[in-house]
Amino acid sequence: MKTVIEPFRIKSVETIRMTTKEERIEALEKAHYNLFLVKGEDVLIDLLTDSGTGAMSSAQWAGIMIGDETYAGSKSFFNFQDTIKDIFRFEHILPTHQGRAAEKILFSVVGGEGKSIPNNTHFDTTRANIEASGAKAVDLVVPEGLKPMEVHPFKGNMDTKALENFMIETGAENIPLCMLTITNNSGGGQPVSMANVKEVKRICNKYDIPLYIDACRFAENAWFIKTREKGYENKTPLEITREFFSYADGCTMSAKKDALVNIGGFLCLNDGEIAQECKNLLILTEGFPTYGGLAGRDLEAIAIGLREVLEEDYLEYRIRSTAFLGEKIKKIGIPIIDPPGGHAVYIDAKALYPHIPPLEYPGQALACELYIEAGVRGVEIGSVMFGYIDKETGEEVPSKMELVRLAIPRRTYTQSQIEYVIEAIENVYKRRTEAKGLKMTYQASALRHFSAHFEPLK
Ligand SMILES: *Cc1c(COP(=O)(O)O)cnc(C)c1O
Repeated sequence: MKTVIEPFRIKSVETIRMTTKEERIEALEKAHYNLFLVKGEDVLIDLLTDSGTGAMSSAQWAGIMIGDETYAGSKSFFNFQDTIKDIFRFEHILPTHQGRAAEKILFSVVGGEGKSIPNNTHFDTTRANIEASGAKAVDLVVPEGLKPMEVHPFKGNMDTKALENFMIETGAENIPLCMLTITNNSGGGQPVSMANVKEVKRICNKYDIPLYIDACRFAENAWFIKTREKGYENKTPLEITREFFSYADGCTMSAKKDALVNIGGFLCLNDGEIAQECKNLLILTEGFPTYGGLAGRDLEAIAIGLREVLEEDYLEYRIRSTAFLGEKIKKIGIPIIDPPGGHAVYIDAKALYPHIPPLEYPGQALACELYIEAGVRGVEIGSVMFGYIDKETGEEVPSKMELVRLAIPRRTYTQSQIEYVIEAIENVYKRRTEAKGLKMTYQASALRHFSAHFEPLK
């Protein structure tokens, strides 16, 4: 059979409130043309993020009921710890309330003034936590990772020559650790190959620098290795994950991604001394080390999710369904980041709307068009998010790219719902020459995309 089906059936449903085009136009006006300000109940298909928005399995819900809420030494903690140790093989496991809490704790201990941390591409919370500690965050992704239309199987790879040069120039004593983000979220959800992590580890060993992995989408990355890298086609996702993490000294993880839960995270380390310092901070900011800001039931659901996410049927469906959306809209003529990543499809709004200049926000215009057309919510990743006012000239500087990301929540939407999204995109494509830009009428001094107000240009 060629058709890849959802490897599950639905036991509990959540009603979507249907809306008319008129209602959506009104909701968008009320939200000042900012989709972050639209109410969730006014959205039909929500592709804003894949973080914490997925569906849990009946086994996970059963785990929620047997979660042990003992303050110290909960049975659910040991289940959580043993599962993580079995998959990732690290010594010390610290639960946290989400991924950024693990980052905050790690970089409070190893970061600071004068330190630099290289990565393929730092995720925005990772960069913010490194910079908040006074350290510098440096991105060293391969050149292919910066070219949207250039097809390459591992566009998330680290540029290893650049990494070694960086280590020589910066001095190993100023680099507390090197990171590798799998898959590379900020670079379009693109994977990192086994060959690349091996080479990164070899360079790290040469300069005696530990390697940490931002593990958020570790299972999706393992599937890309299985299907794209020679020698791994007969290995299981678990075997691939174990090999990948055998090259690392620790990891940070947002359980809201590949642990298939709505909240949670963890930090893993092999270094006992750093682990002790992290534990002390954990108690200060998150909670006792056997719950770390989570309920016992959350730990139980994470332990079960980490097993389910490595099932081959799940991963085949997951990666195939994202690729399906990407391939279909590409065929219509929509320019996308190619090939599609694991968790999202990125549309190049600059190429779709060449008549809208960057500072009239073509990405925002496209995101609004999709919402009005069909109640589909994506997110602008362009000049609204990354543009800024230059303090010296007072002029607004646009972003390098104008993208709209359609992130797919895990196990949440059906094939016909995705086909509905494709039809909406096709309709928006047909009237692309009529689309108009927007004017920003209000902006906050930081992270302006969350609260900005707009008016459509006539
Ligand atoms: C989501 C994410 C994080 C942060 O995790 P939160 O749970 O949102 O705090 C860090 N790195 C990557 C790659 C992510 O996708």
